[in-house]
Amino acid sequence: MMNKRATLFLFLPVVCLLLSSSALAQLKVVTTLTDLQSITSLIGGDKVDVFAIATGYQNPHFVDPKPSYILKLSRADVFVTVGLDLEIGWVPPLLNSARNSKIQKGGDGYVDASVNIPLLQVPTSASRGQGDIHVFGNPHYWLDPQNGKIIAKNIFDALVRVDPDRRSFYEANLKKFNETIDAKTREWTEKLRPYAGTKVIAYHNEWPYFEQRFGLQIVDFLEPKPGIPPTPSQLLKVINEMKRDHIKIIIISPYFTTESADMVARNAGGKVVTIATSVGANEKIKTYYDLFEYNISQLIEALR
Ligand SMILES: [Zn+2]
Repeated sequence: MMNKRATLFLFLPVVCLLLSSSALAQLKVVTTLTDLQSITSLIGGDKVDVFAIATGYQNPHFVDPKPSYILKLSRADVFVTVGLDLEIGWVPPLLNSARNSKIQKGGDGYVDASVNIPLLQVPTSASRGQGDIHVFGNPHYWLDPQNGKIIAKNIFDALVRVDPDRRSFYEANLKKFNETIDAKTREWTEKLRPYAGTKVIAYHNEWPYFEQRFGLQIVDFLEPKPGIPPTPSQLLKVINEMKRDHIKIIIISPYFTTESADMVARNAGGKVVTIATSVGANEKIKTYYDLFEYNISQLIEALR
């Protein structure tokens, strides 16, 4: 017994040293969403320790800025945000409180993942409706896997700025990510091809990028405007559209209550399909790749 304990005390400092040196070598990355976390992990591998602020089953527009996130941000080497005001209610106060110049806008560790994304639904001042929370264009761009490659490049650039010695490691991972996304996109597109042009209804306007990539046609929303909860007149309008155009599917994200969607589906003879907007929406979705695998299988099951 004494021997064992003595051995433990002898080796403890060595173990601590080993742990702290490997921890020091890892870059600390904070991302707003789990999707950005997954892509960062795929590019950074074991050289990054990535924390996501929002969970995969939370509405990314509305996240409570807790003090524990400020601590994480104050120690971060890299920060990755969706941008386009998706996180307007919670990222600015967190970044201000974190007082970490490395990850402020313009800092080497700051990543606006929307840079170079071909944006959809950029409002003109004439079309900008009151209460609309998509003020700079639709911010749900990560739901097209091909945009994942642009996000990955933006993250890669920051990792190289902060950690130039490991450029070739990050470069190899980026290449592998791009190849995997291309191969899988072809597979996913093929699976959904028989349903191209199928009209569906969505709760929130989160799907234009997904729709464009995979050929579905989202014709209306339960929300009268992005961020404005469903109103009786909007729901009635949708019921009539569904009946008129024989629309059978309403897609909804995990963070919305299903009551209004259920009511519309009952009245119009359709069904509600919950699909994920982020990694971690449920236990099956562990990576950015899984997000599409899951959504496409859910949709095919419903459309069949
Ligand atoms: Zn939105």
